Parts: sequence; C-alpha cells; structure tokens
Amino acid sequence: MIKLDSKIPEGPIAEKWSKHKNSLRLVNPANKKKLEIIVVGTGLAGASAASSLGELGYNVKVFCFQDTPRRAHSVAAQGGINAAKNYKNDGDSVHRLFYDMVKGGDYRAREANVYRAAEVSNQVIDHYTALGVPFARDYGGALDNRSFGGVQVSRTFYAKGQTGQQCLLGTYSSLSRQIAKGRVKMYSRRDMLDVVVIDGKARGIITRNLITGEIERHGAHAVVLATGGYGTVFYLSTLALGSNATAAWSAHKKGALFANPSFIQIHPTSIPVLNDYQCKLTLMSESLRNDGRVWVPKEKGDKRHPNSITEEERDYYLERRYPAFGNLVPRDVASRAAKERCDAGYGVGDTGLSVYLDFKDSIAKQGQKAIQDKYGNLFEMYEKITGINPYNEPMRIYPAGHYTMGGLWVDYNLMTTIPGLYAIGESNFSDHGANRLGASSLMQCSGDGYFILPYTISDYLADDIRTPKTDTNHLEFERAEKEVKDRIDRLMAVNGTQTTSSFHKRLGKILWDHCGMFRNAEGLKKGRELLDQLEEEFWKEIKIPGTPDELNQELEKAIKVADFFEVGRLMIEDALARNESCGAHFREEYQTEQGEAKRDDANYAYVAAWEYHGHAKKPALHKEPLKFEFVELKERSYK
Ligand SMILES: Cc1cc2nc3c(=O)[nH]c(=O)nc-3n(C[C@H](O)[C@H](O)[C@H](O)COP(=O)(O)OP(=O)(O)OC[C@H]3O[C@@H](n4cnc5c(N)ncnc54)[C@H](O)[C@@H]3O)c2cc1C
Repeated sequence: MIKLDSKIPEGPIAEKWSKHKNSLRLVNPANKKKLEIIVVGTGLAGASAASSLGELGYNVKVFCFQDTPRRAHSVAAQGGINAAKNYKNDGDSVHRLFYDMVKGGDYRAREANVYRAAEVSNQVIDHYTALGVPFARDYGGALDNRSFGGVQVSRTFYAKGQTGQQCLLGTYSSLSRQIAKGRVKMYSRRDMLDVVVIDGKARGIITRNLITGEIERHGAHAVVLATGGYGTVFYLSTLALGSNATAAWSAHKKGALFANPSFIQIHPTSIPVLNDYQCKLTLMSESLRNDGRVWVPKEKGDKRHPNSITEEERDYYLERRYPAFGNLVPRDVASRAAKERCDAGYGVGDTGLSVYLDFKDSIAKQGQKAIQDKYGNLFEMYEKITGINPYNEPMRIYPAGHYTMGGLWVDYNLMTTIPGLYAIGESNFSDHGANRLGASSLMQCSGDGYFILPYTISDYLADDIRTPKTDTNHLEFERAEKEVKDRIDRLMAVNGTQTTSSFHKRLGKILWDHCGMFRNAEGLKKGRELLDQLEEEFWKEIKIPGTPDELNQELEKAIKVADFFEVGRLMIEDALARNESCGAHFREEYQTEQGEAKRDDANYAYVAAWEYHGHAKKPALHKEPLKFEFVELKERSYK
C-alpha cells in the first residue's frame, strides 16, 4: 500500500530549507567514490544535477536520447529565468516570488517547495553568471531583467530570446568538465524504456541504444529522472518533437505515483497553426508582451490589413479586462481570453484562430533598435516562419500546448514513491500548482539540479555506503529487459497500414478538443471513448518499417505514442475527478460570472496522485492535502 508522505519540514517557511539541510545526512568523500547514480536527461535539470553530483565525487552515468546533451529541449527556452534579486529596487523579495507563484498556480502547489524554489533562485543566477552565461546587462553593467506575466516586478534575467540555450551551454560546459575528469560517463542516443526496482528500491534502468537497437542494462545505487514534460501528447505543441512521457510513465507503471496529470499549460503566444502539415508550433516568448500589445478588431470578421485598422477600431481586450496587469496577465488568463475573443468571432487571419501582438507603439516610443536589442532573434524567427516582418505589422499569435505542471509525485526531497528514484525539473509535479508563471521553469529545473537534489540524495545514499555495485544480472533486470523486448516485438508484429504520426496527430486532436484549454464532464467522457477506440486501432493498424535491431526512428516514435495513449487516459481521468476550475485546468461547469476559473478549496485543495493498476484499469487516487499557512487562500484576481 503506497503511503504519501510529503516530508515537509516543520517551522517557519523561511527557515524550513536551511534547517532541513542541516539535518540531512552526508556521505563522506571516500564513500561517494563507491556510489553510482544514474541521471536520465541532460536538460537544465539533468545536466545541472549530473555535473553537481560528479563534482561532489559520485560516479554518475548520464543519459539522453539526443546525440549531445546540448540538444536537450531546454535549449528552446526563450524568455528568461526568474530570481528574486530585487536589482530594480521595485520591492521584489523571496517572499514575493513565492507569493506570485502560489497565486499564479491558483493555490494548488505545495507552499514549502515553492518557497524553497524562490529561495534558491538567487543562487542559480549567481551560479550561471559565474559560469559565464551572457545575461543582458544594464547601462551600469549590472544584470538587467524584465517582467513576465502574472507579476508586477521585474525579476526575469535573460539573454535576448535565447536564455535556455545560453544557460544550457553554461551547464553543458560544467558537465563536459566532469565527463573529462571521468566522474560522469555520458550515454547519448539512449532511450530509457524502464526503471529496474530491486527489493522495493530503484537500482537501474533499461535503455535502447538508438543506433544499434541493443537493449542495455545499467545499474546504480539511485536513479534520477530529469526527462522533461509530456506536452507533446497534444502532437501540436511548442515543445521539441522528441519530448515524451516514456521514462516517467515506465516509473509510474513500476509504482511511482503520477500527480496532477491534467494540469497542462497552454501558452498564449504561439505562432498559430498555419496548415495541416505542421507537426510543431513555435513559441513567441511571453517577454514580448512587455512591449507588444494584444488586440483584435472591434468589428466581428474584420478582414482588413491590421495596419489599416485605426486605434478606435481596436479592442485591446487584455488591457480592457485586466487593467492592473494588462498584457502581462498570467498565461492561463491570456490564453482563455484569446480563445474567448476568437470563439466570439473576432479572431483574425484566414482561420479566425489568432489575435494580434503589436509592437507599433513600443517601436514609436523606444525606437526599432531598442526592440531589436531585446527581441531581435524572436522577430527573425517569426519572419522566417510566416514571411511577415513584425517590425512593420503585428504578429499573429494563438494559444498552444506548452508545459506540463503534472508529473511524477515527489516529496520535499524530490524522491518519488519508489525509494531511490528521484524526479527533478519538468518531469516532477512540484512547484507550479495548476499554472506555471513564466520563467519559473528554468529557475526550478536549475534549482532542483544544482542546489536541492545534491543535498537530499545524500540523505538516502548514506544508508547505501555498504551496498555493493548493482548486479545487472539480477532477476529484476532480466524481467524488465524481457518486458521491454516483448513490447517492442508486439509493436513490430502489428504490421498494419498506418504511420505512427497519423495516430499521434489524431490522439493529439482528441486531447486538445476534449481535455485542452476548456474541459467539461461530457466532453471528457467523449474524449475517453474516442481515445479508447483510437488506441485499439493503433494496436491493430500501426506499421513500423525496418527492424528493431538498427536505427529505427519510426519504432522510437511508436514506443512514445503507445505511452501517450496511456498518459492521455490518465489526464482525462484526472480532469474528470477535479470538479472545479483552477489555473490552466478550466472546467466549463465551474466559472465565475465574469468567465474566470472558480476554485473549490473546500473539496479540491489537494494534489491528486494516481497509482497505476494496469493498462486501461481504473487507477487509484491518493490525495495530498494542501495547507496554506503562509499565503492566504483567496480568489485570484488580476483586474
Ligand atoms: C519553446 C519554449 C520556450 C520556453 N521558454 C521558457 C523560458 O523562457 N523560461 C522558462 O523558465 N521556461 C521556459 N520554457 C520551459 C522550459 O524550457 C522547460 O520546462 C525546461 O527546459 C525543462 O527542462 P528539463 O531539464 O526538465 O527537461 P528538458 O530540457 O526537456 O530535457 C529532457 C531531457 O531528458 C531526456 N529524455 C527524455 N526522455 C528520455 C528517455 N526516455 N530516455 C533518455 N533520455 C530522455 C532528453 O534527452 C533531454 O536530455 C519553455 C518551453 C518551451 C517549449
């Protein structure tokens, strides 16, 4: 019987982490050398964890499916990374960052974790600066920052529109140093397909070598998953195409609870769907809303060129509805407001499914050069994709699937319900509640990897200093390897007529339509029915050319899509079980008269952590009650 114990330390919120750190057991340097840790993932979470653990003296094996850690999806992050430095003297503090995240997440996150993420954010920025990340600087040479949605201060550090790339390069350089020193061994082009649990503890993983097709066994004393989010379940999303749920899902099947799977963030400023052949939606960073104004024509179906629509004929609907935050309302609020305008017939572009993001006023006030300095590469990207020059006319944007607040349930030490199995970064459920505020993910991923996991994992490993190296001939490795091979054989044997992408596309549409930006009980049930039918068809009709013993990208995709069906089913289950609207989880039945999310704190102030009970079987729901001791629970308003 799984028992949820969040292990939140006692005491005032500002002291919890420092007191806890002092109570965590250490492993002495001589013993660290004997211990092995597997880290899966080389995004900001995984690469920071692996390099820190290597520096501490552990033997680390790090895995990614790309050809180099530098291509992890974190590279795509555009806008920035938060820290409560208060460089602008605008009243920011760790407490305010904590407050904004708890409020932004619509009071569905664990207070203690959020506070700690805010607390270590300042160390993260100092560390990246020391690594040489070229953050933007102000006139005096200090690090510059800007605001993001849902906040009224400037706390977002940035490197033009390439913050993720620059931070990843910094982290990659420290990872490479550990690889060169022999403390970290890098395994690229490996797909983790299962976690191996021996006597109740995570002791290794099974991977597929993507070049040779070989199924490999890797043992360790502990396993850390830093495998990112599953937003690609929608097919069309702003995530990298390879982002997937397989590693986390395999852990879930082995006993790790999966929390809040339906909390999926829809980002308001993606380049809209332009044609039927698209497999990716490109994000336009939220930072653009600092200087770009969002509007639609006041007249329904007005098809004139945006530059010929006068000021009086424009509806700056975010500024109108939310005067306090204007264009910088949080993502869930901005996404719903865009959909509301488009559904009401005011959308622009051929499909009517987009709104304008306009820089005319900022360019007039600040000059083109100032705008170019801040967002130049984003403007270039937009022009390359759409053929439209956003310096001359507004961008067109629309909401798209972007980030998963749900993920593996972890306690305060970032350990899942499988002892010795940790989940960090986007792969865990922890710090963002029902909606992530912009620029808080890079902050959380880096904080988890650099400044939290390296402390908490030693407490667990302190019991393992006499445990010998894991024997990969153990029966549990054999069993896990066989399960992986059987599933691959089953997929290959179908030999049907349809491609994996066609199934992924159809699955994504079902989830977007029925469990996307808006959900209701009837639609969710319909979605579940359609998903079940499509999954059945998948297992009868999928066609995977080639063999499993070679580079086979169709097989790679099929494994991921097979898991997405199961993840999608859990998302629907979770959305159905939460009879309230909160953050990005918007159940149409539960809204205020003004169309805002209506929470039900009396009945739903909990983390929903699901236990796997077999394929398509009803999972068990465990509830971790959320207590709000340091932030008052109140209706969220950005007006
Ligand atoms: C377009 C875009 C822009 C963004 N901009 C920002 C921003 O400005 N600020 C911000 O804070 N956040 C931003 N985000 C969110 C942020 O980028 C991500 O949440 C964050 O980078 C996730 O980092 P991660 O380390 O958890 O995972 P990732 O960077 O996704 O890395 C996952 C790693 O796991 C590995 N992996 C996954 N599955 C397997 C498997 N089965 N086997 C082996 N390896 C596996 C991959 O190879 C990869 O190395 C943005 C997101 C997108 C999509």
